[in-house]
Amino acid sequence: MRRGTTSVRRVLKSVVERGRRTTRGDTVFQRAFFVRACASANPLPRWDRIDFDADGGRPGRVEDDEKADTLRTHVLSTKRREKNTPASQYYSMLTDTFGRHHDYLRVSLTERCNLRCLYCMPEDGIDLAPKDDLLTTEEIERLVKLFAREGGVRKVRLTGGEPTVRKDLVDIVERITKIDGIEHVAMTTNGIALKSKLDALKRSGLKSINVSLDSLVKAKFEFMTRRDGLEKVLNSIDEAVRIGIETVKVNVVVVRGQNDDELLDFVKFAKDKPVNVRFIEYMPFNGNKWETRKMVSYAEMFDTIQNRYPSIARIPDETKSEIGKNFQIDGFKGTVSFVTSMTNHFCGGCNRLRILADGNLKVCLFGNAEVSLRDAMRVDNATDDELKTIVEGAVKRKKAKHAGMENLAGMENRSMIRIGG
Ligand code: SAM
Ligand code: SF4
Repeated sequence: MRRGTTSVRRVLKSVVERGRRTTRGDTVFQRAFFVRACASANPLPRWDRIDFDADGGRPGRVEDDEKADTLRTHVLSTKRREKNTPASQYYSMLTDTFGRHHDYLRVSLTERCNLRCLYCMPEDGIDLAPKDDLLTTEEIERLVKLFAREGGVRKVRLTGGEPTVRKDLVDIVERITKIDGIEHVAMTTNGIALKSKLDALKRSGLKSINVSLDSLVKAKFEFMTRRDGLEKVLNSIDEAVRIGIETVKVNVVVVRGQNDDELLDFVKFAKDKPVNVRFIEYMPFNGNKWETRKMVSYAEMFDTIQNRYPSIARIPDETKSEIGKNFQIDGFKGTVSFVTSMTNHFCGGCNRLRILADGNLKVCLFGNAEVSLRDAMRVDNATDDELKTIVEGAVKRKKAKHAGMENLAGMENRSMIRIGG
């Protein structure tokens, strides 16, 4: 049945826009205050002298980040306008008002998890959405098809909670890899229940896996994840490499006083294994007890590593939306990267959107504006055209950048386990 504009309006109106948006600005004064506060809490005060920009290691300054980011966004959109690139020309559904085209979709499969990481899961746990509130296999497939066909999405990452606890995981991967336009399906997992699923996942077309691992010391692993399991995670990583998963990355969230003393051990981990070890700056989310002094900056991590491995050298970014700053070290099979969401955000090149396990579309990891695609599909029986209108509206409302690192900690947002990274 064909629907008219009234119907589109009705669906749009009934879709719930959840969460308040921050109205706080990101001022140079606040940034300077935050940087000073961090520096005084930090025994290695290198905050104010990062960064290496994408074209090969020219140092910049934190104070210039905002200007640089605005400029990058402007240059990017101007270039796209001039070139009239296919992405923005044909896929307006996922192109925002700053010219950023979003071709990377992260899909959270569940809010459940078999670990309880301190930096992710609130101490009191979370109120899990009832199973019936989560997207079904078919709904996930329908949305990915729509995002690929109408929006030009080419890469999908499955995440959670812990995606391996979902029984239909392999089926979901199989369905997504078959969708026209999808070139790359990846997954982020804690690796606990991964090993036995690896063969089937590889057969179904999964190309890359990020395994989260925050300590190589058994007791500390248990402390940080509130569960046992180091051996299982290490075995999963080895098996993924052995069976030839194209890309295997190891995600390490670095928290001062917990695992910052293991930086060099993690670098060594990449010496004999062809894996990419990614050090992630600790980010604030609801209930994760984030504090400025617990965060170890990219600059500080880099100094520690460079002191031990002076040959560390930047690998040029493959794409402008690359979020990791990638490095190689002489004689290493693997590589090392830094994800610098806190001290050097990458909003200007952002190409990501998130569909959460409950079917909400989240256009920014740090923004709390969400729109329910599940309700549109289930309650309003939305057609693909109507869904397209809803998605396009949300993407067009995406802001140029997140609220600024000094504002993020006080912002209302979901806990990380309910977003999926
Ligand atoms: N359970 C899977 C896992 O742990 O890989 C997937 C979901 S987890 C939420 C996705 C990623 O987010 C993980 O790599 C995790 O380390 C990262 N993460 C969680 N909380 C974080 C925080 N507060 N700051 C930075 N990264 C975080
Ligand atoms: Fe679970 Fe991943 Fe969050 Fe750890 S980081 S609690 S493994 S969802």
